[in-house]
Amino acid sequence: MKVDLTGRVALVTGAGRGIGRAIALELAEAGATVVVNYRESAVGAAEVVETITASGGKAMALQADVSESDGVEAMVKTVLVTYERLDILVNNAGITRDGLLLRMKNEDFDQVIATNLRSVFVCTRAVLRQMSKQRSGRIINLASVIGLIGNAGQANYSAAKAGIIGFTKATAREMAGRNVTVNAVAPGFIETEMTNVLNDETRTAILETIPLGRFGQAREVAQLVCFLASDAAAYLTGQTITIDGGMVMHS
Ligand code: NAP
Repeated sequence: MKVDLTGRVALVTGAGRGIGRAIALELAEAGATVVVNYRESAVGAAEVVETITASGGKAMALQADVSESDGVEAMVKTVLVTYERLDILVNNAGITRDGLLLRMKNEDFDQVIATNLRSVFVCTRAVLRQMSKQRSGRIINLASVIGLIGNAGQANYSAAKAGIIGFTKATAREMAGRNVTVNAVAPGFIETEMTNVLNDETRTAILETIPLGRFGQAREVAQLVCFLASDAAAYLTGQTITIDGGMVMHS
């Protein structure tokens, strides 16, 4: 199925590297104009913009820490001044600060909640007025299988990702009347810098839990996000779709 997003404007948070980068490139390949948000990866974000424009697409990079509402509001304002519309928001930015609960510091908990969960609230709120006005929109949130099944050493990350799933459902209900759909994707183990830090023993143990017998690629998540952003997904809202090689199977 060929997805056509010509004329749509997309904002992807944390798109200078990893899954966000793959999502930005995939949306651009489908014809969307892409705003590449980054916090620190200025070089990566510039490279994504360059790749998109070199192949005839439209893109720009905007710096903002997505956990801070002032910066996010300013970023969305710049998008609207530049392109006069906003059709797709992908809340992708995320961090981990792993540790067993007894030793987890308040900052480790707060930082993960602020970057992974409050950011989704802040960015979604910032785009809602425009999407309501347009009477159309697509919001796609990056959750995780860890938000569904939990993981020892990731209480903060599990709580944030489970929070995203609840937030997705509530927002989907609130925005349905405005023809704005809100969905989440819950990846399993995807090869990026986030997962490259794990040691070989942990990687082997995780691999054994994946029926398809391999880790996922960022592009595979990007293709699912691109589908959710398309007209073909118009009747899909409030859902969390796992993309994990069969790691988690719902009854
Ligand atoms: P990654 O390679 O570590 O990249 C994280 C991205 O988030 C970077 O682009 C980073 O931007 C951005 N970011 C972090 N804090 C930010 C902030 N305050 N403001 C703006 N951007 C910020 O991670 P990834 O593997 O691509 O993960 C992307 C998303 O997928 C995350 O939400 C993650 O939880 C989720 N996920 C990943 C996996 C996996 O296996 N990889 C599995 C399930 C879910 P800068 O570099 O510019 O700081």
